[in-house]
Amino acid sequence: MTETAYVAIGANLGDARQSVEDAIEALARLPQSRMLARSSLYRTAPVDAGGPDFINAVVAIDTGLAPLALLERLQAIEAAAGRQRPYRNAPRTLDLDLLIHGDQVLDTSTLTLPHPRMGQRAFVLVPLAEIAPGRVADAQLAAVAGQAIHRL
Ligand code: ADP
Ligand code: MG
Repeated sequence: MTETAYVAIGANLGDARQSVEDAIEALARLPQSRMLARSSLYRTAPVDAGGPDFINAVVAIDTGLAPLALLERLQAIEAAAGRQRPYRNAPRTLDLDLLIHGDQVLDTSTLTLPHPRMGQRAFVLVPLAEIAPGRVADAQLAAVAGQAIHRL
């Protein structure tokens, strides 16, 4: 039994573009998983975070990993990329957020699905709409149209 999961990737420290490309490769190598699609790379201004512009992308994977197991894998990839959390919304070498996992709805201390803030973020909605147009309503895109985002 596998599900389609969507993962948002963001980085704004060091060689952010390379970090995102490396993360996409790491996601493609996850066990029990297969990459279905990857968006273009996008450049965005930080929303709540500080520091330089972000590079963002979204990927779709077909996975046999359960939501929490997948989250643990995402956090291991973040850690391997040198992710530190000195304070909330600090600049980051790599951020991997699980947006959607099949039709799972979860609200625990470690994992909320669908991701609670995805609907407010152009840097998630625009790349998600590129690879899964049926997942993003026009009204959602219109709501974030004021956020600058540039496809690379
Ligand atoms: P953010 O991505 O919000 O800037 P972090 O990457 O530091 O912040 O994540 C903070 C916590 O959010 C993680 O420890 C994780 O347990 C939790 N979390 C809850 N839901 C999700 C989700 N859908 N995807 C990723 N992390 C999540
Ligand atoms: Mg995160």
